[in-house]
Amino acid sequence: MKLTIGHLYPDFLNLYGDRGNIQCLKKRCQWRGIEAEVQAFENDDEIDFSKLDIVLLGGGSDREQMLVCEKLKKIRENFRAYVEDDGVVIAVCGGYQLLGNYYATKDGRIEGLGIVDMDTEQGTGYRLIDNIVLESELFSMPVVGFENHGGRTDIKQNKPLGKVIYGSGNNGESGYEGVVYKNVIGTYIHGPLLPKNPQVADYLITRALERKYHKKIELQPLEDVEEKEANAYIYNRFKGKVSR
Ligand code: GLN
Repeated sequence: MKLTIGHLYPDFLNLYGDRGNIQCLKKRCQWRGIEAEVQAFENDDEIDFSKLDIVLLGGGSDREQMLVCEKLKKIRENFRAYVEDDGVVIAVCGGYQLLGNYYATKDGRIEGLGIVDMDTEQGTGYRLIDNIVLESELFSMPVVGFENHGGRTDIKQNKPLGKVIYGSGNNGESGYEGVVYKNVIGTYIHGPLLPKNPQVADYLITRALERKYHKKIELQPLEDVEEKEANAYIYNRFKGKVSR
């Protein structure tokens, strides 16, 4: 079996090393004898979504998001068709915001892809920066990580990725973080999202293989000793603590 992972605009959307998430997907495939190829797309590269199995949109500063939104306009319809056809997407922070209708900043409005019906407004004053812990119906293990965003996202009628146990999440008020739409996961959890949360990486790999090969996939389990230990440590450290 083989998966092709598309990394969209890493020169613009790679804040806090989101590229590590690609390495993690690749490694977890290879450890199981699944071939994994990564294709990075820059500028005006032609993107053939029919050749992709997982798409990663990373995080970026407001400035980078403003620049990249022009590129996204050109691929919007093909990207939407991929998502509606159950294409797998993992979108982090700035990339997550860009899946929605818009991100309104004090310097202007950044148009999003409008693939998931959600809106982001820049909050007043402070950024939401802290460790974050979620409980998600999709996984038995908690999802842990770090968030750093000025935008506050309203996911409207969409399903969240998880319930915030510690941290701020989508807007610091709803008590929820991220979004799940078809085979798309959007989240504010940055940097090593997938290395820290192998359950999320395996979920994406499984969805992508099932879509491509039209059969039920049970991935060979990996030990993940350090990952599980670190996850439990973070969960226990922050559970019950009051965030901002
Ligand atoms: N620029 C966006 C914000 O501040 C996203 C930042 C990010 O990707 N960390 O909300």
